[in-house]
Amino acid sequence: MTNLNGSCACGKVNYSILDKPLFTQACHCKNCKKSTGSSFVIHSMVLEKDFKITGEVSSTDLPTGSGKGYKAYFCVICGVYLYCQYNVSKGRVAVRAATLDEPIEPQAHIFVKDKDPWIELPNKDICHDVMYDREKTWPQESLDRIK
Ligand SMILES: [Zn+2]
Ligand SMILES: [Zn+2]
Repeated sequence: MTNLNGSCACGKVNYSILDKPLFTQACHCKNCKKSTGSSFVIHSMVLEKDFKITGEVSSTDLPTGSGKGYKAYFCVICGVYLYCQYNVSKGRVAVRAATLDEPIEPQAHIFVKDKDPWIELPNKDICHDVMYDREKTWPQESLDRIK
């Protein structure tokens, strides 16, 4: 595949995803609303080794529902939040897919129980009230790549 490329708003930080993302999901939880300032986030999970970034980022530790926490990374100039790393999923990063140059469609919607009421999701089969079972939802190929 051709690389997926993205950047922050000011363009000082650029990145490429060198292999197909493992999985892409939208999260409608309250934390994601806060951190995006919008109705949901779209995260593409990629292997850390496939994620190449240029430009300066800073990071901060934030809490997760599980209590394990995660590290969020921002452009030092414009402050755009580009990706994060969950402490429970070492070796992977969650890229904020809306910072890609081309849009990428979510394969699942999670925390739909907290979804804003004016957003309609036509494909109910990929909607999950809270979370899904990864073994049953991710493509087998992606499960094999994280082993
Ligand atoms: Zn920037
Ligand atoms: Zn969320």
